[in-house]
Amino acid sequence: MRENLFVPNKMPYAKGQNRPDVECILCAIVEKDEKVQRLEVHRTELFTISLNLYPYSPGHLLIFPNRHIVDKRELRSDEVLHLHELECISFEVLTRAYQPRGFNVGYNMGESSGASIPHLHLHIVPRYPRELGFMDVIGGARIIIEDPIVTQEKLVKIFQELTGNK
Ligand SMILES: [Zn+2]
Repeated sequence: MRENLFVPNKMPYAKGQNRPDVECILCAIVEKDEKVQRLEVHRTELFTISLNLYPYSPGHLLIFPNRHIVDKRELRSDEVLHLHELECISFEVLTRAYQPRGFNVGYNMGESSGASIPHLHLHIVPRYPRELGFMDVIGGARIIIEDPIVTQEKLVKIFQELTGNK
């Protein structure tokens, strides 16, 4: 399904053709590399939350540790607890922003899982009753209508409101 997604945006990487020219895109976000500056929506001492480069649905988020690890078994217990908190905050943020009717949550881990980024990341995919309004079908391709920059600004603001993190 991912191949059918196109994001109308001026950023070349968001057209689904050119990945940002960085060794690890998630480490690049953590390091505030300007090539990926429009993806981050929230950050704590241990984790960063970003928009997915190729969103499956509007508001599709990735939560990942600030350190480069590739397997869930490498997470420390303090990270696991914090990750759970961030997961719950993300549900709340997305509910306020988009009123989804459900979520798909999970990991792709390992080379045969479909993971395109080795750096461990948790997908939060909001689901909508008909996935209309944000997405439309034009010429057989599903188009995300909301500009990712608008999505980013909206979500950054709600994360700040909910966490008191300015
Ligand atoms: Zn990394």
